[in-house]
Amino acid sequence: MASSNNNSRQGRLVVRTENLRKDLKMGEVVVHAVRGVSLEVEAGEFLGIIGPSGSGKSTLLGLIGGLDTPTEGRIYIDGEDITNLSERALTRVRNEKIGFVFQFFNLVPTLTALENVALPVQFARNRQFNPTRRAEELLKLLGLGDRMNHRPSQLSGGQQQRVALARALANNPPLLLCDEPTGNLDSESSEVVMNALRDVQQKMGTTVVVVTHDMDVASQMDRLISLVDGRIAEDVDARSTAQMEAVRMLREKRKTGELPVVHVTEK
Ligand code: ADP
Ligand code: MG
Repeated sequence: MASSNNNSRQGRLVVRTENLRKDLKMGEVVVHAVRGVSLEVEAGEFLGIIGPSGSGKSTLLGLIGGLDTPTEGRIYIDGEDITNLSERALTRVRNEKIGFVFQFFNLVPTLTALENVALPVQFARNRQFNPTRRAEELLKLLGLGDRMNHRPSQLSGGQQQRVALARALANNPPLLLCDEPTGNLDSESSEVVMNALRDVQQKMGTTVVVVTHDMDVASQMDRLISLVDGRIAEDVDARSTAQMEAVRMLREKRKTGELPVVHVTEK
């Protein structure tokens, strides 16, 4: 079994797709949800996928994550062609290579934060870590060191999503796929979760892909791919575009108090 060293990830292609297509049947009607997407994502990237509702973001993420198989085209994850794998082999790829974070946290309500995160380590086929110690390490990294024995109902939305993030990272996957990770959070919790994702990318070297329709979230990504009608409309290095610089400046000013912070009332 090849062991992956965080520092050797740079430059590797963690995701490569070739002319990916996905047709979905809705009754008699065929929806062309993804219509020929070719993209490459290097190890350690912090990539956003944006686009209007129905543009194919979730379908594309599902294909990359091996949750679904394409109608046409090819998908390579961490160098492995996963296009025609059996369901059993895809399950293995998902378990070893990919962490998922969704809009709703889906934590086990009867387990503590620590137990939720330790669970995937206990069930890993090739166990790399001591489950409890790994869970402690990740929860501390994500600022939840004092919440490890709380159950989900005793945690805020932002805290629950960070537990879900720790769980997704439990077996140290090279690739983290997030579908609207802040979609169910107020703006303050969103910021906490986005900071956590950035920490994960920088400290663990994980490749992070975030699907979002929130421009505030999108403005924090290093690279942005926009989808329109199942196709890539734009693919920009957001670190070098003037618009993203402007957004970042406003954000800084808000932090330093030069501009008023807009608060969203917590439920
Ligand atoms: P997004 O995540 O960008 O909102 P989706 O990938 O969910 O977009 O959907 C892309 C298109 O595929 C939409 O037209 C949607 O209605 C359709 N679609 C999504 N899921 C299904 C499904 N399970 N069956 C049929 N059509 C679907
Ligand atoms: Mg979606």
